[in-house]
Amino acid sequence: MADPKGFLTTARETPKTRPVDVRILDWKEVYEPFPHGSLEQQAGRCMDCGIPFCHNGCPLGNLIPEWNDLVWRHDWREAAERLHATNNFPEVTGRLCPAPCESACVLAIDPAQTGGAVAIKQVEHEIADRAWDDGWVTPQVPGRQTGRTIAVVGSGPAGLATAQQLTRAGHTVAVFERADRIGGLLRYGIPEFKMEKAVLDRRLAQMAAEGTRFRPGVEIGIDMTARQLRARYDAVVLAIGATAARDLAITGRHLDGIHQAMEYLPIANRVQQGDLAEPTITAAGKHVVIIGGGDTGADCLGTAHRQRAASVVQLEILPQPPESRAEITPWPTWPLMMRTSTAHEEGGDRTFAVNTEEFVGDEAGNVRALRLVDVRMVDGRIEAMPGTEREIPAELVLLAMGFVGPERKLAEQFEVDLDTRGNIARDGAYATNVPGVFVAGDAGRGQSLIVWAIAEGRAAAAAVDSFLTGVDRLPAPIAPTARPLV
Ligand SMILES: Cc1cc2nc3c(=O)[nH]c(=O)nc-3n(C[C@H](O)[C@H](O)[C@H](O)COP(=O)(O)OP(=O)(O)OC[C@H]3O[C@@H](n4cnc5c(N)ncnc54)[C@H](O)[C@@H]3O)c2cc1C
Ligand code: SF4
Repeated sequence: MADPKGFLTTARETPKTRPVDVRILDWKEVYEPFPHGSLEQQAGRCMDCGIPFCHNGCPLGNLIPEWNDLVWRHDWREAAERLHATNNFPEVTGRLCPAPCESACVLAIDPAQTGGAVAIKQVEHEIADRAWDDGWVTPQVPGRQTGRTIAVVGSGPAGLATAQQLTRAGHTVAVFERADRIGGLLRYGIPEFKMEKAVLDRRLAQMAAEGTRFRPGVEIGIDMTARQLRARYDAVVLAIGATAARDLAITGRHLDGIHQAMEYLPIANRVQQGDLAEPTITAAGKHVVIIGGGDTGADCLGTAHRQRAASVVQLEILPQPPESRAEITPWPTWPLMMRTSTAHEEGGDRTFAVNTEEFVGDEAGNVRALRLVDVRMVDGRIEAMPGTEREIPAELVLLAMGFVGPERKLAEQFEVDLDTRGNIARDGAYATNVPGVFVAGDAGRGQSLIVWAIAEGRAAAAAVDSFLTGVDRLPAPIAPTARPLV
């Protein structure tokens, strides 16, 4: 156990953010560094519970009490070993995970009494960064090659975790990515101010040194057919994400100035990567409306502020959640509650319980306003409230309403079955109906989180390794049917 009196004597502390008026002038990560000494105190708040419920929140099975104890004892190097034992990319989850482990922490049962959950995410973040800074993260080159070959299609966290596990097991792995750079949503979805891309690049360099072969700029299905890929590789893992975005087919959708979030965010990321001097879709000087109150919408919000939008409004069709955990989501489940991200702290208005009825255009064919109506829930259904119709100005509209599943065309070419939700169907071993073709991440699960994508990547790698070698050697943290605590 860490400090026997830890949570009784030390208050929960999380990192400070840089001042808003400073940070919106740049694209660097928003948090201030967290002092190592304070972090050890935070880790010391962990009670090393007999039943560590934090584990129930994390699909990776992260050894949270173990690394809390090691950090409290100043043994950061061993903590880094234990952290990497279950997570290929803790520097990513330490920055980007919404931390369901913290919602499930025993100290989160009654925050008024305990001071709140252990700051698990911050402990993870600091261990991971220190491991890189102190040179403890080195390539793990396999001692022996199996001679078996695997193609991973898609280079998001699921594809990368699959590839790293299989490469380290001695297989020859190539990662195919249709974009010009590797990383999936980590590269072109998530803005720089949430994770600087240098964090991703150093991990990719480690993977390349271990032997993973990266093939960016190759669209499977077009540059190489499914048949060619299957003929050339012993196994194929489809980790193509759930990139088909939900649309809003209402009057005026054809107007200029209405874009999907994933048309807008990659361009902003390309400016930061140095590909473009100026974004080709920009919020600069415009009244911006983001339709969708979730995390993708918040990423659009932070991006729009950094591009100097004139105003930003984020619309959400559902009612505003309560300030603290709703009774219908008791501990240790993921709580329904109002969430304020760092992007929300930077400005903009949030409007809940509102529906967009029409995009209104000007004579030049550009969007100029949105026609809204308030809504309410009646018997579980959303109903418009007559008399509340109004217009708000909108010169740039960003659709951030989620994703409906993987794109169909590649699934059709591979002749893999889809499940009832439109995701690529798999059995208990991540195998599709086509022999030797597996699926991992959002492509099989539907839109989810990075931590689930990494867990699926690790588990799918174990399944592929067993398929190729006939032996169970790699860790498989989750079954394809595993779901978050809700
Ligand atoms: C804007 C945004 C922000 C997010 N922020 C967070 C966050 O902060 N925290 C969090 O936990 N989750 C976040 N998520 C969710 C998270 O990013 C995803 O759940 C995760 O990336 C899924 O990983 P994946 O590997 O399955 O797919 P993806 O990351 O989507 O990667 C799939 C890759 O496959 C490639 N591909 C598709 N078809 C082909 C083809 N035919 N040939 C070659 N390549 C192909 C795509 O180009 C893509 O690069 C966010 C999602 C979005 C959209
Ligand atoms: S539930 Fe919280 S206090 Fe208990 S072991 Fe996990 S992190 Fe520590």
